[in-house]
Order: sequence, then structure tokens, then C-alpha cells
Amino acid sequence: MAYDPNNIFARILRGEIPCKKIDETDHTLSFEDINPQAPVHVLVIPKGAYVDWADFTARASDCEIAAFTKAIARAAELTGIADTGYRVISNIGNDSHQEVPHLHMHVLGGRPVGPLVLPRD
Ligand code: AMP
Repeated sequence: MAYDPNNIFARILRGEIPCKKIDETDHTLSFEDINPQAPVHVLVIPKGAYVDWADFTARASDCEIAAFTKAIARAAELTGIADTGYRVISNIGNDSHQEVPHLHMHVLGGRPVGPLVLPRD
């Protein structure tokens, strides 16, 4: 999957589209998902142009990687789900149904979030 500089998260980073911000650092932005799947559903993204986790780990600096992993934990703390538990998911590529070609981690909680994946039919 190629990086599309006009993807929705790139546009949020450029300030062209609003978001409900939770947290921001030099390297990361965290905001509420527009279509929440749980009482807390935050997206954590790097500010750099990375398509997915593989692209990020191959090209990002150690500073960016450290900032991103810390931002994920902080999103849970800031939204009050760190103690009750939560799930962190990143969809990568076609089989996962990744919709936006800019790396993002979903942080989900606020209720029991169910099985890890849907059972087979
Ligand atoms: P994925 O399928 O992993 O690529 O997830 C993309 C996520 O982005 C979905 O959960 C969408 O609800 C969310 N999303 C799409 N547009 C926006 C937006 N403008 N603001 C916040 N979240 C969005």
C-alpha cells in the first residue's frame, strides 16, 4: 500500500479537517475515532508519513518510535481506561481491512471489548 498524502489523517495533521484531540507531542497526535466501537475509542498516529507498522518500524527514528509507544499508553491513562483494561489494535493491509493508509493504533476500552477476532462462520 502506497502512502497517499491526501489520506484523512494526513489532512487532520495539516489542520484541514478537525478532530477531537486527546493528546499531542512533537511526534504524535491522539484523537477520538469518528465512529467509536467502544465507550473509549482513540486513534494514536505518528506525525510522520508512514503507511503502517512495517513501514514505521523500518523508517522511523528511535525518537519517533519511543514517542509513539508512550503516546499509546498515555491515551489510555488520559481517557481513564488504564486501570480497567483496554485493547490496542493496528490494522495492516487488505486482510485486516485497513481503511486509512497512515499508521494508526486503535485504543479501545470502557467496557469488556469481546473476543480478539470474529470466529469463523
Ligand atoms: P482502519 O480500518 O484501521 O484503517 O481504521 C480507520 C478508522 O478511522 C476507523 O475506525 C474510522 O472510524 C476512523 N476515521 C475515519 N475518518 C475519521 C475522522 N475524520 N476522524 C476520526 N476518525 C476517523
